[in-house]
Amino acid sequence: MASDDRRTQSLAAKLAEAERPFVGYHILASEAYAAPLRERAALALSDARALADRGIALSPFLEIGAGSGQRSLALQNACGATGVASDISRSALRNAPYVLSVLDYVELPLLLCCDAHRLPFLPCSFAFVFAYRTLHHLNDPEPVVAECYRVLAKGGHWFCNEEPLDTPLKRRLRGDRVLSRPPTRLQRIATRLGIERYFWDDVAVERAAGITEARFLPATWRRALRPFAHVEMEINRRLRVHTDLRRPGLSRWIAERVGGNVKALCRKEEGEALSGPPTARLMCLRCGATMHLGARDEPFLTCTACGRRYPILNGILCMLPDALETALCAPQTAFSESSNEVEQTA
Ligand SMILES: [Zn+2]
Repeated sequence: MASDDRRTQSLAAKLAEAERPFVGYHILASEAYAAPLRERAALALSDARALADRGIALSPFLEIGAGSGQRSLALQNACGATGVASDISRSALRNAPYVLSVLDYVELPLLLCCDAHRLPFLPCSFAFVFAYRTLHHLNDPEPVVAECYRVLAKGGHWFCNEEPLDTPLKRRLRGDRVLSRPPTRLQRIATRLGIERYFWDDVAVERAAGITEARFLPATWRRALRPFAHVEMEINRRLRVHTDLRRPGLSRWIAERVGGNVKALCRKEEGEALSGPPTARLMCLRCGATMHLGARDEPFLTCTACGRRYPILNGILCMLPDALETALCAPQTAFSESSNEVEQTA
């Protein structure tokens, strides 16, 4: 049980993720909210355009850990792609219409509240599955990457960016030291030099909220990426070491010693080709039957085989496994609308 928890994340860790806040109106009113969203959308757009230039199909896409949806919005509105923005936090997804307005876009992707360990799609449903700043919130990325692999069609690509590769040396240098808030003078100097992460960890806030913050060693990446036929990785933003951590060689030797940001593009070569849009390839989590999403203003999507009803709330389709849905909807959790909502009149 404990080891299974470690692989698929404890319920408590999932609840902490689900309770990321709805900030809605504040995105429109404050640059402190809007600026990082614009920045993140711009990076995703630049990555997506580089991939499209190489002839990589971006549609239909699935984003896991989409948060407020900024990256999926960019793909949907500026890359001619259509797809699904998914996250375990329904309150974070509720920000998407506000982000749409801030980014001056018009079209929302399908917003889906789900658990990335149990994606509610038939196998081989997407050409492109991607994630930014998501895997490191998992103790073990392998089961989630395996789910992404399952829902990718033959010839489809999995992409990630803004994920960490740790090294044994960095672990030794860093020890248990955490960046203080506000930073000390020494920490400010290190930040100016861009070396603060070698000597301090910077995740005290997330960990205090019960959110997992992991730093993956090369062996973890190797295990997670094992299913893919072809893997390209760019390690470290400054040094840009191009490698496949699964294959021995000089570039891998260097990458494993410098660590840093991981950007990866991986191709699946087996399975079935794409057939039909993802909205016609939804899968009931209780019985495995195929489900079609019709009108999004219905209150429920109902499985015709087993009768399980999946709520559609604020335009967000919620397809969570039974145990997780029960835990999230329990009235004593902070997931209730009122306690999660920031006062809109503030
Ligand atoms: Zn069913």
